[in-house]
Amino acid sequence: MKFSSLVSFFERLEETASQIEMTEILADLFEKASEEDIDIVCYFVLGNIAPGYSEADLGLGDKTVISALALGSGRDEEEVSRWVRDKGTLSALAADLEIPWKEGFRDYIAVEDGLRVEDVHDALMQIATASGSGSMKKKKIILGAMLAAADAKERYYITRLATGTMRLGAGDRTLLDGMSYSISGTKEHRPVLEHAYYTCSDIGHVAKVLKRSGISGVKKIRVSLNRPIRPMLTQRVGERAEIPEKITSARIAAEEKYDGERIEAHKDGDDIHLFSRRLTDITGQFPDVVEEVRSGIDATTAIIDGEVVAYDAGEGTYQPFQQLMHRRRKYHVKEYAEKVPARYVVFDLLYLNGNSKMSLSYPERRAQLKKILTPSDFLSVSGMKVCASAEEIHDAFSSNLKRGLEGVICKSCASDSVYEPGNRSWQWIKWKKEYETELTDTLDLVIIGAAAGKGKRSGRYGSVLCAAYNEEEDVFQTVCSVGTGFSDEELEALPGKLEDCKREKKPSRCQVRNQSEPDFWFSPEFVIEVLGSEITRSPAHTCNWDDDEKRGFALRFPRFIRWRPEKSPEQATSAEEIAQMYGQQGS
Ligand code: ATP
Repeated sequence: MKFSSLVSFFERLEETASQIEMTEILADLFEKASEEDIDIVCYFVLGNIAPGYSEADLGLGDKTVISALALGSGRDEEEVSRWVRDKGTLSALAADLEIPWKEGFRDYIAVEDGLRVEDVHDALMQIATASGSGSMKKKKIILGAMLAAADAKERYYITRLATGTMRLGAGDRTLLDGMSYSISGTKEHRPVLEHAYYTCSDIGHVAKVLKRSGISGVKKIRVSLNRPIRPMLTQRVGERAEIPEKITSARIAAEEKYDGERIEAHKDGDDIHLFSRRLTDITGQFPDVVEEVRSGIDATTAIIDGEVVAYDAGEGTYQPFQQLMHRRRKYHVKEYAEKVPARYVVFDLLYLNGNSKMSLSYPERRAQLKKILTPSDFLSVSGMKVCASAEEIHDAFSSNLKRGLEGVICKSCASDSVYEPGNRSWQWIKWKKEYETELTDTLDLVIIGAAAGKGKRSGRYGSVLCAAYNEEEDVFQTVCSVGTGFSDEELEALPGKLEDCKREKKPSRCQVRNQSEPDFWFSPEFVIEVLGSEITRSPAHTCNWDDDEKRGFALRFPRFIRWRPEKSPEQATSAEEIAQMYGQQGS
């Protein structure tokens, strides 16, 4: 496919604010793209160059791109920086700035003009894999070569891809809807496509299989090592007594609930990879966990799911989540592994010695997990008590709290208690200590706007507009504006932190009522945890908007608790969960 044809689809996607139209455009794109290119097309539409979990990182900051533009056009970096300021964005300037073709460019890009999708992808991958001394210069030359072979519109989008600022407004679920539309004109195939995507986490692979072998081929997509499986999620209830009503199995496993970071570990012989809740490869961050999995899991190949928690082995006690956050770092990793030791508490087995275990029941998976895991101070199977009544669950919960744990995760022991990738399932229900004291659970919300600060806060942001994620429509819907709970330092740092995702107009996937329109818009990227007093119905917010009543759900007296860097915007609290929490209030 010609890159220019793909660019015209990018333009069409950006011109529409309608979700249906976007789905139709994507269906059209899916039909026009070839089987060879379709995976790359999908990555590009989502603003990536590879599946989300891959380590491919272009490593191009704005400064490097400015320097590449200066180098390519034979201009001064100062002058180029000034132009960028005049034009507003790097990509707008790149569209205007012609770069003359040089013969040496042929080493990096096959064509002088008429770029194909694969040419752009090849060049971007060369940039991502360039390493060692002289790699920065090489990255700049390759970018220059690509821009020299491109026309103005292509330069605009290549620069957005290169700087990670694509944000066309289409999310992965809309892309899956587009695929479904392309084969049947409806969304009917989304569940099958979604299941395959949650199993392999590579939307490009799903699209390729769909093109090649149709929906029956997609149904055959299996788990594979080093492709993360989307973690199964937990439901919540309003009253503890509801747990045995929702989980109907005769026996319910009340597992200890740990307050750490979800990690999925893949073992392929001695090769270990760790994936975060966002499905990014975070192997380098936890060398101690890697070692524990390598020596403590007796299997040739395995995929296990669990929580990494800061742990004091001397005292035998778990430490708060904030301790573990010290381990989120690029540098001094080993030093902090010693300062803040972590225990990997494993609660599930998804794959073993070449076979998926996800369709086994929870007791069967757990039994097999116990057989292959040799416990140590820093590796264990989650603690669990089998319960037959609400009273027994209460006992397990109270005993967990006494030992400094966060609560219980109740799990079905029924014969059909399979592992459901990516699903917030009624087979798993969380019950935390806050539920006993606060009116509501905290919400994880996405920042999509901000109001200018007044008085003491002038020159900064006064509050941020926060949204929940509507999974069905693949859009972000507002719930509240949060202005309290931020420390002075956090308020000071906020504009800088949000700068890169600032937008001139409302991002297309955000739904906001006129009366709640903020002074500044942001593309949905940052997730924060927010505590409120109550969920109400309000005409000011769009969460689960009811068109008859002209009201959505809103959170009263919201207060910032903390940043949630381990969550992607699509992993924010969903509009459906908020509707559920509303129903559970005061019940
Ligand atoms: P969610 O994961 O439901 O989106 P969250 O990230 O805010 O919400 P919590 O509400 O605290 O997390 O509870 C769910 C999380 O608890 C799981 O995603 C997992 O990371 C963690 N967890 C701790 N112990 C267990 C356990 N024994 N079984 C399953 N999950 C557990």
